[in-house]
Amino acid sequence: TSHWSHVPAAPPDSILGIASLYRNDPEKKKLNLSVGAYRDDNGNPAVLRVVRKVEQEPAPDHEYIPMAGIPSFCQAAVQLILGEKAQSIKEKRVVTVQSLSGTGALRVGAEFLCQFYRPAATTEKPCVYIPRPSWGNHRKVFQSAGLKVSEYKYFDPVSCDVDAKGLLDDLTNIPSQSIIVLHACAHNPTGADPSKQLWKQILQVVIQKQHLVFFDSAYQGFASGDLEKDAFAVRMFEQSGIEMLIAQSFAKNMGLYGERVGALSFVCKDSSVVASVQSQLETIIRSMYSSPPANGARIASRILNNPVLFEEWKQELLEMSGRIQEMRKLLFEALVSRKTPGDWSHITKQIGMFSFTGLNVEQVRYLREKYHIYMTEDGRASMAGLSRETVPLFADGIHDAVL
Ligand code: PMP
Repeated sequence: TSHWSHVPAAPPDSILGIASLYRNDPEKKKLNLSVGAYRDDNGNPAVLRVVRKVEQEPAPDHEYIPMAGIPSFCQAAVQLILGEKAQSIKEKRVVTVQSLSGTGALRVGAEFLCQFYRPAATTEKPCVYIPRPSWGNHRKVFQSAGLKVSEYKYFDPVSCDVDAKGLLDDLTNIPSQSIIVLHACAHNPTGADPSKQLWKQILQVVIQKQHLVFFDSAYQGFASGDLEKDAFAVRMFEQSGIEMLIAQSFAKNMGLYGERVGALSFVCKDSSVVASVQSQLETIIRSMYSSPPANGARIASRILNNPVLFEEWKQELLEMSGRIQEMRKLLFEALVSRKTPGDWSHITKQIGMFSFTGLNVEQVRYLREKYHIYMTEDGRASMAGLSRETVPLFADGIHDAVL
């Protein structure tokens, strides 16, 4: 008998599990709206032109890179999110390490928090608060590092918008010095972001309650097409002088999904702690995977550090985000023209890769079984997976499912 005969099968992942159902469906006209990966208008994976260009130059060698990653990449990444003039960068109180994309940044950050975050207010293990709902992997990433995970109210399904009062109340009522995960922009899965006014109120509560913020930035530049606009919340928090962590992903905005390009930054109160924080992050990285992969970070570093390539990248960000916004508009119009029961205006109001359609589990399953359209069971559909050709099919499916 096997050593593993007692091992139960793990439940399928709420997102990747649907993607594998899709792969196994023999239907030709099937449509995958489950995974957040950009597709061009022919439904094909897209490599950015600027990435292709940079890839023409072969890597100088395949040596190991440092535990903390490529320094020119790390600097450029944190400048991208905080802005070149950020006070914390000027005062050298920011630590940045390269990570295995956004997930890896969250995981290493979580590991550090579990080892070193000791809020004075309590002797208990610190708890991480994630929005309800949140990206399906957040809970698992923090739990596997040994942190407790709880939720704060985020979304109001009736208004299809951020539940501002619920959110502020929850952040006020949870224990002080809690760890708060905030999606920097394009909240996944709801596509609903706080207004600037609400961000200010969130910051006030965070300061008052001395919470520790962990920003998750997976969509900078990809959401609105504007790198500055999508960094608004992170920069406002940085300017207030509080300490925080930031996880950055270059999966979506550079289309480097499988290359695993990301960064984890600690914005600290003063520069005296920087060397210790950096060395402990390197220790964590060493024991988890030794050092990060080189290829994707080299590509990203060249684009971020070369003004001509950077401009070309910004143009492509506009194209990708523009195509997604167009899909939203077409889907909305298609539902209106079919007189599909319900108010679908949230589809065009939401921002980022996904639309939180409001379809329930039964309707989602119906779409999968009858129309071979795959989306996650919470009703989230990737707008980036739609094309001019497939919008009518999706609209027909929704129309049928809600009738
Ligand atoms: N956070 C959020 C909110 C996300 O949507 C994603 C990507 N789906 C990630 C983190 C991490 O993705 P990756 O590890 O591919 O960068």
